[in-house]
Amino acid sequence: MEHLKDTFKHKGRRRQLIQELAEMGIQDERILNAFDAIPRHYFLDLAFDEQAYTNMAFQIGSGQTISHPYTVAFQTELLQIQKSQRILEIGTGSGFQTCILCALGAKVFSIERHQPLHTKAKRMIEFFSFNASLFFGDGYKGNRVYAPYDRILVTCGAPDIPIVLIEQLKVGGLMVIPVGEGAEQKMLRIHKSSDTDYSTEEFGTFKFVPMLERTVK
Ligand code: SAH
Repeated sequence: MEHLKDTFKHKGRRRQLIQELAEMGIQDERILNAFDAIPRHYFLDLAFDEQAYTNMAFQIGSGQTISHPYTVAFQTELLQIQKSQRILEIGTGSGFQTCILCALGAKVFSIERHQPLHTKAKRMIEFFSFNASLFFGDGYKGNRVYAPYDRILVTCGAPDIPIVLIEQLKVGGLMVIPVGEGAEQKMLRIHKSSDTDYSTEEFGTFKFVPMLERTVK
């Protein structure tokens, strides 16, 4: 944690990234402000410090990657988050996306299947004193204890739409999830219209690490 220093250089690069995100079509000022409030380089190995504010994914350990900033911003925008909403995130990873959601005023519940990533992300949440509960477990099953959720965000590529997650969504709620069997997934937004019905919208193709079953210690 000793490298959690935010220099003028970092701040300058961050502003540039935010400008880039805006040019790529991210419209919501609140999301751009959240990207300014959460220094992405805090979530990366010192080796990536220089590149932390480029639109790239980086290794975060356990064979996983932090998502591209644009992907984080795009998924967040699709979620249409309002303050105080309860959000379930599957795939905590570095915790960067979790912190962006917290910065928007959401109450976040996030699940990660790799123990070392879970532990590291927990420290980041504590560093920012955010209102988030992090769980080590298999996110494919969601978390019934705190359901139902206003929003569900899946940050790993799911082979299909996990029905159990739709069950844990409030009626009127939204779930954003990349779905696909291979290396690429379609970004889907699911609107739960009643206890038994939902509609699906599609928002382009993305590449995520796969959603896998079982936990890894
Ligand atoms: N939001 C993260 C993205 C990390 S990549 C970030 O910004 O850093 C996706 C993460 O999903 C990986 O850490 C991976 O371990 C996790 N994951 C994959 N399958 C999972 C599952 N079934 N339950 C919980 N987490 C899972």
